[in-house]
Amino acid sequence: MFYDVGPKYTQSGPYGTMPAVSSQPQIRRNLNTRNRLSQVMTSDHHRDTEFMGAALEEAQQAFSLGEAPVGAILVHEGTIIARGHNLRELRHDPTAHAEMLVIQRAAEQLQSWRILDTTLYVTLEPCLMCTGAMLQARIPRLVFGTLDPKAGACGSLFTVHQDSRLNHQIDIRHGVQEESCRNILKEFFQQIRQDHAVTTKS
Ligand SMILES: [Zn+2]
Repeated sequence: MFYDVGPKYTQSGPYGTMPAVSSQPQIRRNLNTRNRLSQVMTSDHHRDTEFMGAALEEAQQAFSLGEAPVGAILVHEGTIIARGHNLRELRHDPTAHAEMLVIQRAAEQLQSWRILDTTLYVTLEPCLMCTGAMLQARIPRLVFGTLDPKAGACGSLFTVHQDSRLNHQIDIRHGVQEESCRNILKEFFQQIRQDHAVTTKS
């Protein structure tokens, strides 16, 4: 907790308002803690960007298979333990979303249905099914790239991840590599429309 040092001692920072440098030892101690937290956050943010790069590689694989390009990975103690991409068309399976495949693979890997101490990275905001599966698996943290205004259950259409009636909630960060995550989907659907136009003409 910070002391209330009044407006003349405060300044805005990237993580909200924080006290300005002060000669008071307690506030200096608090500031040092905050600076350490900022460093941790920065390195976490950097790692999130890197891991999202791996999820994007998965999305690219889906693209090359003619699947809507959504990719996911699951990280446990700094290591990727499962990867997956959307395979709904090829498997004729409405549940073959990237996140579902990753959750199944991770559970197998960990030999447990509880996937604790992990972060799931996915290029697109998860739907109801995938958010439900994450809650079932007790995944504590989710990082996603771009919002899905048509089906997103983590902020867009629903906020299932933070429903206090459930016995588990998920911490979320979104907007990581957002442009790349959005662009790959945009490119895919543009191509589908073009192909469709060519087929209809011929
Ligand atoms: Zn889904």
